[in-house]
Amino acid sequence: MNEMEQSDFLAGLRAGKGKQGSPETARDPVNQAMIRHWCDAMEDHNPVYTDVEFASRSIHGGIVAPPAMLNAWGMRGLEPSHSRPDRARESSGQIYGALDAAGYTSVVATNSEHEYPRYLRLGDELSAVSLLEDVSDEKKTALGVGHFVTTLTDYRDQHDELVGRMRFRILKFKPGTGAGGSGVDGESSPAAKSARPQPGISRDTAFFWQGLEEGELRVQQCDRCEILHHPPMVRCPECGSREFGWIVSSGRGTVYSFVEPVHPNFAAFDPPYVVGLVELEEGTRLLTNIVDLDPESVRVGMPVEVNLARRNSERTLPFFRPQRPPRREMTRKFSGIEVGAELDPTPIPISATLIVATAIASRDYQDVHHDRELAIQRGSPDIFMNILTTSGLCARYVTDWAGPGALLKSLSIRLGVPNYPHDTMTMSGSVLSAEAGRVEVGLRGYNRLGNHVTGSVELELPESEAPSNRDRG
Ligand code: ZN
Repeated sequence: MNEMEQSDFLAGLRAGKGKQGSPETARDPVNQAMIRHWCDAMEDHNPVYTDVEFASRSIHGGIVAPPAMLNAWGMRGLEPSHSRPDRARESSGQIYGALDAAGYTSVVATNSEHEYPRYLRLGDELSAVSLLEDVSDEKKTALGVGHFVTTLTDYRDQHDELVGRMRFRILKFKPGTGAGGSGVDGESSPAAKSARPQPGISRDTAFFWQGLEEGELRVQQCDRCEILHHPPMVRCPECGSREFGWIVSSGRGTVYSFVEPVHPNFAAFDPPYVVGLVELEEGTRLLTNIVDLDPESVRVGMPVEVNLARRNSERTLPFFRPQRPPRREMTRKFSGIEVGAELDPTPIPISATLIVATAIASRDYQDVHHDRELAIQRGSPDIFMNILTTSGLCARYVTDWAGPGALLKSLSIRLGVPNYPHDTMTMSGSVLSAEAGRVEVGLRGYNRLGNHVTGSVELELPESEAPSNRDRG
């Protein structure tokens, strides 16, 4: 297209700006089965979503839906709304059609902003009205040249009460016109690395390396005095015995000490990397790498767990990553919140099962989220996580930290590089502001390619630790 044609084309796209579509009714009322699928797939164990007794005693007075499910209720499953003739006449349907016809056939979601005026309850019947808010000029992104399309959707219940609002931005782009990077930000896949040096294995240490291959972290134990040693010894320094067995460690421990080597640069260790000394629950210490975490986020005393993996090694090695912090059972008080406080980093292993289960739990049947062959045909190296799941995991991270009495008021996320299987997304966050019972938490989820998500969540916290605090009221 020349400049004139391009501007006509854009004007055509933008003709529908600000016009509302007709209401679209969710196919099912808010129900426990879909909530349970979502919570199972997201591993979100907040009891207000599934535990009738707990929920009835909570500030909600009964079961509520995870707020991040907002747009899942209206998803059409195998029948995407813009492919249906009755929707094609509407502004967003027309836009997608016009962009497809002009060669912008690929689509990726880039931003999602939710507002939650109230939590949805079982039986709520939602209807959604969308309007086209904006179409960008043609942009060059790492994925390809394309237009960002922004829609604003209002969700109302059976009494016409506004219960949710979503601003959603997608990129419609021409496949094959990008720089070959991953995601809108274009960080490319890590180059093939040289292999790690191999450990020297002796008769005395073979049990340790064999254990790793069998999925066990073993610690040498003296047969006579039962003392544990690591690294393995030839002769017990306590009792002089030369007879040893081993125990299997729980794999849990804490960071005793660590260092981030920067020079010389060993490519095989995939810099930046952290060498850590981990003290196991059993008491012995082990030299290892702390992984799935920015070097600057590693802390002495941090709870870690073993991750047996190869990571460009011919052998299975024991790496350590942060433990998922326990879900908070007592809701934090607003008065106890300090601006700048950090949330504990939380690794979320990304498996194909997680990507597929969460896509289906959010009724998103786009092939790139479950069909590897088709994803590859579309230029992606593998299936990748959908944006509803990213929203759900961000919400889970913050509510696990805040407790079940926290009210999510809004969630705003921007996607960067994709989450592919066999990676780990580590969530980190900090308190950005705290005012009049409202707390804003900034968060980030990063994987081996870079930032998968950045954004923020707004919460309302009680002044006292509701509901079981006796001092209340
Ligand atoms: Zn001994």
